[in-house]
Amino acid sequence: MYIDTEGVILKQVRTLNNRRMVLLFSKKYGKICAGSNLSEKGKGKQSLAMKPFTYGRYELFKGREIYNINAAEVVKSFYKIGEDVDKYMSCSYILEFTEKLLPENQPAPALFDLLIDFLEVIERRNKKYASLVAAYQFKALQHSGNAPQIKICANCGDMKGGVHFSIKDGGILCGSCFETRNMAPKDKDTLIYDVDFGIVKVISYILDNPITCFEKLALDDVSLTKIQQILKSYILYHFDIEALKSEAFLLD
Ligand SMILES: [Zn+2]
Repeated sequence: MYIDTEGVILKQVRTLNNRRMVLLFSKKYGKICAGSNLSEKGKGKQSLAMKPFTYGRYELFKGREIYNINAAEVVKSFYKIGEDVDKYMSCSYILEFTEKLLPENQPAPALFDLLIDFLEVIERRNKKYASLVAAYQFKALQHSGNAPQIKICANCGDMKGGVHFSIKDGGILCGSCFETRNMAPKDKDTLIYDVDFGIVKVISYILDNPITCFEKLALDDVSLTKIQQILKSYILYHFDIEALKSEAFLLD
């Protein structure tokens, strides 16, 4: 069966019987593994469409078990991403994170659009990439139905906002839930972070607005560090996403 879809190549997987295999985040079918004879190394337009950070259109043949990319064309090449090392590393990190977050063969068109928007916004930026990376991560969690609960207590639903973010509960705890969690010092929950209302507001702002609004988003260092810590524990605890390979190179 021949099908076509827009997509972004997440990574080269391996070579199987001399055939190149890639992970493609396709808009119609979600994350799929596909074989292809098209090389990313050539100079033609099809090769460009096989590189990461290219928004492409792919013609696929779906066999019984596996997809094959027969033809590819560029919709938009975010070539400026490759011109700056920090920007490149931030985008590599985001592709890696997105790949881990996505289940295979499940369409996630809203997340796909978010990724394209992210690439567009970061391509135009020339500093403070880490703020945008964190914003993308919150929005991606939200699009996959896993946004942290920060408007009401994540445990009891109380409307009074608190200043403690519980990783296990997946959001903010009200004062009394926080106290019960910490009653016995020996059971102290080490996955509860103190946050201030400023941080809660920043996360709220990110969740309530499209990423295209964050062209100028630049968090101060203290808030950014705290938010990165929370994100890191959150994705490790809920998705088992460990440190990503490209993380070590992330700078703001
Ligand atoms: Zn509560």
